[in-house]
Amino acid sequence: MTFPIKATCQCGQISYELHKPPIAVFACHCTECQKLATAPYSVTALCSAEDIQFHGELKEWRRGSDSGNISAAKFCPGCGNRIYHYNPDNPSSIKLKLKPVDHVGANLFEPSTHIWVSEKVEWVEIPKHVKALPKGL
Ligand SMILES: [Zn+2]
Ligand SMILES: [Zn+2]
Repeated sequence: MTFPIKATCQCGQISYELHKPPIAVFACHCTECQKLATAPYSVTALCSAEDIQFHGELKEWRRGSDSGNISAAKFCPGCGNRIYHYNPDNPSSIKLKLKPVDHVGANLFEPSTHIWVSEKVEWVEIPKHVKALPKGL
């Protein structure tokens, strides 16, 4: 894999470059992620904010999480693609949403851990070689 990796949202208004591999990659099966991804689960790459450059004006939406932290979501105002999440108390850590990456079919950032498997839809099968946790980390 060569860095930087460039990606855009669906409409192209937002783009980013990721300069280093993520710290970790998770697949989350919780019902919130099912809503946000409009899919059975969402894939998130935990990255350091200094390793990513974003271009374009993002909109923000915030919600409280079960742990009591604020989860802030950045998304494209044009097409609505979710770009990343972060905790405003810890903005150096970026939870990058991988959907918009422009690498079709590449084995890009395979999740090493699946979380909230207790809320997983029945027909999704988790590969045997990855970790699966019933709840969050
Ligand atoms: Zn867009
Ligand atoms: Zn989740």
